[in-house]
Amino acid sequence: MDLAPRHMAGQLVASTKCREAKMTQPYHAGRHFLQIPGPTNVPDRVLRAIDNPTIDHRGPAFGELGKEILADLRQIFQTAGPVIIYPASGTGAWEAALTNTLSPGDTVLMCRTGWFASLWNEMATRLGLEPTFIETDWRRGADVAAIGEALAHDIAHRIKAVCVVHNETSTGCASRIDEVRAAMDAAKHPALLLVDTISSLASIDYRHDEWGVDVTIAGSQKGLMLPPGLSFNAVSAKAVKAAEGAKLPRSYWDWRPMLEANKTGYFPYTPGTNLLFGLQAAVQMLLEEGLVNVFARHDRFAEATRRAVRAWGLEIQCADPRHYSSSLTAVRLPEGHSADGLRAVILEKFNMSLGNGLGILKDRVFRIGHLGDLGDLQVVGTLGGVEMGLRAAGVPHKPGGVQAAIDYLAGNA
Ligand SMILES: *Cc1c(COP(=O)(O)O)cnc(C)c1O
Repeated sequence: MDLAPRHMAGQLVASTKCREAKMTQPYHAGRHFLQIPGPTNVPDRVLRAIDNPTIDHRGPAFGELGKEILADLRQIFQTAGPVIIYPASGTGAWEAALTNTLSPGDTVLMCRTGWFASLWNEMATRLGLEPTFIETDWRRGADVAAIGEALAHDIAHRIKAVCVVHNETSTGCASRIDEVRAAMDAAKHPALLLVDTISSLASIDYRHDEWGVDVTIAGSQKGLMLPPGLSFNAVSAKAVKAAEGAKLPRSYWDWRPMLEANKTGYFPYTPGTNLLFGLQAAVQMLLEEGLVNVFARHDRFAEATRRAVRAWGLEIQCADPRHYSSSLTAVRLPEGHSADGLRAVILEKFNMSLGNGLGILKDRVFRIGHLGDLGDLQVVGTLGGVEMGLRAAGVPHKPGGVQAAIDYLAGNA
């Protein structure tokens, strides 16, 4: 029964609509499988941590929490420098990275690896930057040779930043940030390196300091196993220096008051207090497992998934094995078959959500998220749901994908 107050007409309409929508969905026993590539399943330990009374964010207990989280987070980014936390989605952290380091009219070099790189590019244009875009076919990571060439030709150093999406969530292709760094060094180019790790941080090996990244952008709802609502900028000394001269307007996103308040564990405005409780638990879990083991777990699940896809006789969207993503796999459907139709069948029959195709891949691919809080049985269950879905939706395939995954997982325990 709905006990919510009914004195507002709008609420009444909303709650009636909600009930009608529910009635069209059959009841499903068992847990929903949220296998989209973010938001990911939130572990119970993180949920329990969030479920605590909100505390005074200017009181003494908060300062201790803030200091601990801000210190421990550095290990996740593999940096000795500061990590800034925003109560915002990942898109906010994109904007923060650009507005803190750049000035109107600055040229930025971007790579169209897929949908998310395209959105970041549109944002750069809207902010008054002048992005140049290196194209790809959405089936591989950033073209490192093309980046090196563009930088080598830029004798006047008009390019102020190179922006790369580490793990392109729309395609399941991961770019080689170590190689991008090497190309920038080879060209002896002073541009900043800004990297989006929203769907790779804490899933795929990523080294902010070692790879000379200036701003790393991350979000809470993917590898970090939290609900949506927090995002991050890890910043190099060079980036902090760039922020002194950057002329793009910024206020909410300004790093300077953040870095100042963070010194004592506090924030210049109200932080996402309860999500920070969850973040503390999530970071503890990752450090207890050990980052090396976290990465190996994701690599193993990705390989099991790819073996299943090949056994089904379907095609993996990522065409370059060096760029395979360990956090998700995008799967192409045979010509004439609808990926969205398949996803709808799987949701209705098996209570599992899979990622949809975005941009030019709309209805052409579905995406299996295998990142965050999951173990062997969730992977086998997920692939089981896909295989049953392929059969139920009449998508031509060979059986045996789940068996191929089990053979791999059991042989590589
Ligand atoms: C999810 C995602 C985003 C968008 O983040 P929001 O939290 O939805 O704003 C950006 N880039 C990548 C690579 C992502 O996976």
